[in-house]
Amino acid sequence: MAENWTYAKRQLCCSDCERTFQEGEEVYSMMRIVEDELQRVDLCRASFDDRDASQDVVYWRTSHREKGGAMKVDFDMLLAVLEKLADDQRDERLDLRYLLTLLLVRHRKLRLERVESKKGVEFLILRKVRTKTTFKVESRELEEERRKRLSAVLAGLLDPTSEGGIDSGEAT
Ligand SMILES: [Zn+2]
Repeated sequence: MAENWTYAKRQLCCSDCERTFQEGEEVYSMMRIVEDELQRVDLCRASFDDRDASQDVVYWRTSHREKGGAMKVDFDMLLAVLEKLADDQRDERLDLRYLLTLLLVRHRKLRLERVESKKGVEFLILRKVRTKTTFKVESRELEEERRKRLSAVLAGLLDPTSEGGIDSGEAT
């Protein structure tokens, strides 16, 4: 089932129970991590209440509109995710946070101020443009495969029509 999901598009039915949404129904759009996999899903209220909250990355409540089109994830939302993940030390969250940071730097929403090294671990110190808000993000070594997959999901969230991942064209 999961293989066929299109992450960026608003689903017409609940991702978990597969019940079709009614016009105007309360829908929970969320990003979650299930066994290492970043998912963008839409849940009905019942499935949302039943979910495993430890998988949450971020969620927002909307109401279903037949002609609403794809839910756009914007940079402010991604910055909020970055903040939300700040205290989460699980490996997959640290990886996600690092990739999100690269994405935001590439789109000039964050500026790299400096790099700090502590006990052999490298941290990126970033500042949100035109603000004094700073972020400290652990630099992560990701396997190529995993990096590509997560990056593609993140890029897909921003632009549903995009084919390439955020890594395309990057020299490594
Ligand atoms: Zn459901």
